[in-house]
Amino acid sequence: MISNKMAERINVQINREMYSAYLYMAMSARMTEAGYTGIGKWLMVQYHEEMFHAMKFIKYLEEQGASLKLATITVDNLQETSVKDIFERVYAHERGVTASIKEIMDLAVEEKDYATQGFLAWFVDEQIEEEKNVRDILQSLEIMGNNQQALYMMNVELGKRGLTSPADFSIL
Ligand code: MG
Repeated sequence: MISNKMAERINVQINREMYSAYLYMAMSARMTEAGYTGIGKWLMVQYHEEMFHAMKFIKYLEEQGASLKLATITVDNLQETSVKDIFERVYAHERGVTASIKEIMDLAVEEKDYATQGFLAWFVDEQIEEEKNVRDILQSLEIMGNNQQALYMMNVELGKRGLTSPADFSIL
């Protein structure tokens, strides 16, 4: 069993992962509308990964005999319109998620909750990858400057991204 405090905190995280999914879906639609269909697809893969993250936490609550409490998810209208602005927001968002995972880890350490520490290790690794992927994209955008042809090529390249989430997506 995990503590009530930990169960509450994981429920907050489930809401945050699902918020991430909503945010990326909104971004995907925005980019697809603007003609960047490859980037739209990349962001849609991101949406699925976030839903998978939420499912992973949901399964953990169930395994620990804790209740799932779903909260409202709202996403404000996106202000970002350019590819660079979108990816800067993705990067800022993922850094926030990393901080949020770290908070749960801090609580698990404080409570000597070794089970949750072990469970969270996957998310700690995942956040390194999430941040790196976006940092690489931002770096490429920096190198491209205002080269529209290069941006088009990048759009095509990002559209090749496939879903890499494990097959146990339909857990529970
Ligand atoms: Mg996530």
